[in-house]
Amino acid sequence: MTPQRVGVVGGGIVGLAVGRELARRHGVHVTVLEKEQALAMHQTGHNSGVVHAGIYYRPGSLKATLCARGRHLLRDFCAEHGIAYDECGKLVVALDPSETGRFDALEKTAHENGVPGLRRLDGAEIADVEPYATGRAALHSPRTAITDYPAVARALGAQIEAAGGEVLLGREVTGIRQGVSGVVVRWAGGPDPAERVFDRVVVCAGLQSDRVGVSERGPVVVPFRGEYMRVAAGKQDLVRGMVYPVPDPRYPFLGVHFTRRVDGTLEVGPNAVLALAREGYGRWGLDLGDVADVVRWPGFWRVAAAHWRTGVRELAGSLSVRAYMRAASRYVPAIGADDVVRAGSGVRAQAVDRDGSLVDDFRITTSDDVTCVRNAPSPAATSSLAIAEHVAGLLR
Ligand SMILES: Cc1cc2nc3c(=O)[nH]c(=O)nc-3n(C[C@H](O)[C@H](O)[C@H](O)COP(=O)(O)OP(=O)(O)OC[C@H]3O[C@@H](n4cnc5c(N)ncnc54)[C@H](O)[C@@H]3O)c2cc1C
Repeated sequence: MTPQRVGVVGGGIVGLAVGRELARRHGVHVTVLEKEQALAMHQTGHNSGVVHAGIYYRPGSLKATLCARGRHLLRDFCAEHGIAYDECGKLVVALDPSETGRFDALEKTAHENGVPGLRRLDGAEIADVEPYATGRAALHSPRTAITDYPAVARALGAQIEAAGGEVLLGREVTGIRQGVSGVVVRWAGGPDPAERVFDRVVVCAGLQSDRVGVSERGPVVVPFRGEYMRVAAGKQDLVRGMVYPVPDPRYPFLGVHFTRRVDGTLEVGPNAVLALAREGYGRWGLDLGDVADVVRWPGFWRVAAAHWRTGVRELAGSLSVRAYMRAASRYVPAIGADDVVRAGSGVRAQAVDRDGSLVDDFRITTSDDVTCVRNAPSPAATSSLAIAEHVAGLLR
């Protein structure tokens, strides 16, 4: 039976998509509780804006299935709401022979995931798609798109309200417990009573997802900051769509890439640097509570032991624009360190299990009447509308 009153914690794209799905399609009274004074202030508002076509994800995984469905749903949603959606396409470029095995495996995965229009290009054909890019071979995904995720989030919020629901800003949820007549949610901030009972609660707290609504410790969120560079106006048209490296399969991150934005600018990034604050967007942001949570988690030390070399390399790129661009310029040699300025950054919530494994797939758990989205990294923005269908299915 579908519940009547659902509380959703988190006004990022996943929480809002879940709220809208329940309110519009299932007639549920939805209350979204968001701690910031505006929607999409964290991952949703600091991402690359890419609508992924499903190249990378393990066939059959939640990421693979929900990304494919989510892309369709998102394209229709953007068309319906007049939100920018540009299928400018993407290349994944292999530069040297050592990448052949990974490149072939990626092509196979992409085909198994049914990535539409996928083609393998040889070195000479790359220039037909991206005249300034170079490489030995590339995968071309013409339907990979870009959009404006904060605008999508705002439109989802408006739909929740239009369906009779509430989107309450400045409400930080401080406690969730199972009561006899439902789930009791307590919050700080706002003029209204700071406690309410819901039939069900869905927690989509992004960077705080290991702290809200969960009783057991772990997986713990380890924050990775992704920094962007903006390409100077005179060179921003040298890339038409997106140019990505072949990713290292040991990591859930896709590698620094060239990405067009819907406002016509061109960015390079994001890298992946261990962050000392979950919601710290400056390079020196430090939150001692966040650091303490990470260092107390055995899984973190296992990640650190296994990947410290990569960590040092990423840090070097973070400290020096030249080091950052040395790797990126190999894909588009006409754009170098003198052609970029530092732009913003985002922080990824990467869940890490006790054994040190970086949780790869989306992870959604339910205990009593509380459902928690525990790991929703990229492509969760792309997949958000499909994640919402999935969660609504769990609630029924
Ligand atoms: C640098 C970067 C690049 C990315 N690029 C892409 C991309 O190109 N394409 C793609 O598909 N995905 C991308 N992603 C991933 C994508 O942005 C996220 O997967 C997605 O935004 C997750 O949405 P969310 O709603 O779960 O989290 P968030 O957007 O982080 O929202 C969580 C919300 O919960 C709120 N909250 C937390 N705790 C509480 C509390 N106690 N009470 C009330 N509210 C609370 C927060 O304030 C926040 O608004 C990227 C992410 C990053 C960081």
